[in-house]
Amino acid sequence: MSNAEVTSTTMSIKDFEIGKPLGKGKFGHVYLARTRKEEFLVALKVLHKAQLIKDDMAHQLRREIEIQANLNHKNILKMYTYFYDEQRIFMVLEYAPRGELYKSLTKAGRFDEPKSSTYALQMVDALEYCHQNDVIHRDIKPENILIGYNHELKISDFGWSVHAPSSKRKTLCGTIDYLPPEMLNHQTYDKNVDLWCLGVLVYEFLVGKPPFESAETATTYQKIKAVEFEYPDYVSSEARDFISKLLVFTPSERMPLAVARGHPFITKHNSSNDNNTTTTTTNGN
Ligand code: AMP
Repeated sequence: MSNAEVTSTTMSIKDFEIGKPLGKGKFGHVYLARTRKEEFLVALKVLHKAQLIKDDMAHQLRREIEIQANLNHKNILKMYTYFYDEQRIFMVLEYAPRGELYKSLTKAGRFDEPKSSTYALQMVDALEYCHQNDVIHRDIKPENILIGYNHELKISDFGWSVHAPSSKRKTLCGTIDYLPPEMLNHQTYDKNVDLWCLGVLVYEFLVGKPPFESAETATTYQKIKAVEFEYPDYVSSEARDFISKLLVFTPSERMPLAVARGHPFITKHNSSNDNNTTTTTTNGN
């Protein structure tokens, strides 16, 4: 399938053989499916229009589709095309056979440093690519990341992402443990929110829980605003330095992604061309 089919309205559910359910989201189910013609395995996400309209999510879905369909990177879940009928919208997605990162992390408890470092590099690559294309993800967390056949991370769920051609945005969204201070404080924000979230994510890889997690929401808020967190003894000095340079209160002072790529926490565990990537968008930008 090519990008020419992204706005396809000729495709229908009859073009697919539907297989096992892969999961369930708030707005519908996701099934393993195979195109009848090419016998190509995909994940088919089925959303119910009535539910989307009821929850006022139509606008967000349109944005998600526009953004995800135009991104083309090995660490971003590909959306091949979409189509619809009277009641439903179908998103044809790249199939991620190893499922959710959240489950894999829960099962493992925490990841060792080589694995965390490799995953961190993949996230650096994917976020750098998003930012080069003026897309801010805004909702990086293990629940929004899937795992491909070769154990590579695939960022999914662009529901909160925005095209940020120039201006800063002011909407509050995301999950509390991953919320950067500028979003908590309802200030305008920019692509540097994703750097904060990367810091939280790498901490969670290594420790098994996010750095500001607390029993009370109010305490989490306070800790985020004060950038107050601790490292367990087993976290190496390189990993601490990497995380500490991302979990910085002032957005513009966070370590840029290009610098993160060359940080000892990354270079120690990855050779320079470990995550060679495609850097073109499907619409030729
Ligand atoms: P979602 O509605 O996107 O949150 O998807 C619900 C669940 O379906 C996810 O948590 C995954 O377990 C599964 N899922 C969604 N998309 C895919 C995919 N592309 N490949 C494999 N599993 C998926």
